[in-house]
Amino acid sequence: MAFHVEKNYKNLAESYLFAEIARRVAAWQERNPEVSDQLIRMGIGDVTRPLPKSVVEAMKKACDEMGTPEHFHGYGPEQGYDFLKGAIQKYYARFDVTLNLDEIFISDGAKSDLGNILDLFDKDNTVLVTDPVYPVYVDTNVMDGRKILYAEATEENDFLPMPEEKYKADIIYLCSPNNPTGAVYNREQLKKWVDFALENQSIILFDSAYECFVTEDLPHSIFEIEGAKKCAIEFCSFSKKAGFTGTRCGYTVVPEDLVFDDASINKFWLRRQTTKFNGVSYVVQRGAEAVFTEQGEKEIEENIAYYKENAKIITDVLDELGIYYTGGKHSPYVWMKCPENSWKFFDNLLEKCYVVGTPGQGFGKSGEYFFRLTAFNTHENTREAMARIREYLSK
Ligand code: PLP
Repeated sequence: MAFHVEKNYKNLAESYLFAEIARRVAAWQERNPEVSDQLIRMGIGDVTRPLPKSVVEAMKKACDEMGTPEHFHGYGPEQGYDFLKGAIQKYYARFDVTLNLDEIFISDGAKSDLGNILDLFDKDNTVLVTDPVYPVYVDTNVMDGRKILYAEATEENDFLPMPEEKYKADIIYLCSPNNPTGAVYNREQLKKWVDFALENQSIILFDSAYECFVTEDLPHSIFEIEGAKKCAIEFCSFSKKAGFTGTRCGYTVVPEDLVFDDASINKFWLRRQTTKFNGVSYVVQRGAEAVFTEQGEKEIEENIAYYKENAKIITDVLDELGIYYTGGKHSPYVWMKCPENSWKFFDNLLEKCYVVGTPGQGFGKSGEYFFRLTAFNTHENTREAMARIREYLSK
């Protein structure tokens, strides 16, 4: 007898992208100390605006409550308090999506749930992800040893791959608005994915972490699509919506209609969460509830408008230069075509413009000639970075 590790962990690729970016930036800073304070980071996926005031006030009030014998809260329901689930339920009603409170599960963020949901799924299931892709979908499945297929997102399909015979898989990941490309599926396109999943008895894992950036008549939720409750789970987050990246709160919608192998996925998830998770703190859930108040919504709208203004500063320059891109309008990410290999472009932007972005290649093979710029910065920095990039690309 001897202890053994989970061998699949040996199959994980080194978490190369952000480590490599940090290494190259540090080396550049060492070589260029005199200009190193001019560096502008346009690569980060973390928000930069602080928490909305109404969220802070709600959390302060909840903290005070926790210090009184009458209002102290100990262990809460693992799946979240009804006050927050009720606020989310009302939010979905705006998109004509009716959810029962038992279909909403509060968590410490979308990333955890995206990984944890796999506890419920057989390891022999095949997986479809788009390429480029948010790396969490890939790595969590590599850890379990599942076979992964890639649907290429390219300029030809506007970075929105559609169902094809060769993409038949048991688990289908869709992220819309997409990280890294910023591309958004419309209702007709999502309907095709829902029909494809229903036809093949697949499950769709729909990541709507960036739904708050969606405007016009584009879907916020896959449950706006008929039939989706029979084939999809939705993961959402307060991270980008309300600046909760460090505060941690999200939610997952698991419909009661979701039944495979005569098993209710909703019941399985409840069982999993009540066994392995002890819920999000009362204070944080009160903060998240404030996101849906009139004042909270106003403050959040201002923050999102601020980021979108940055995205516009970026895309205006790309339009002026005639450079192809996706995203920006319904997303904090702009996915631009670069004139050279994306790592080469990264080095050139760093050396010549003192600007850091994210090479598309780090998100998958299809990203080799693309580059991700993010709107999470100040207007001043975004303007300055784009002025430098304009000058460099005009030469
Ligand atoms: N899903 C996508 C597509 C993301 O880009 C991110 C974070 O960047 C997450 C999920 C993680 O969200 P959370 O902070 O709620 O864990």
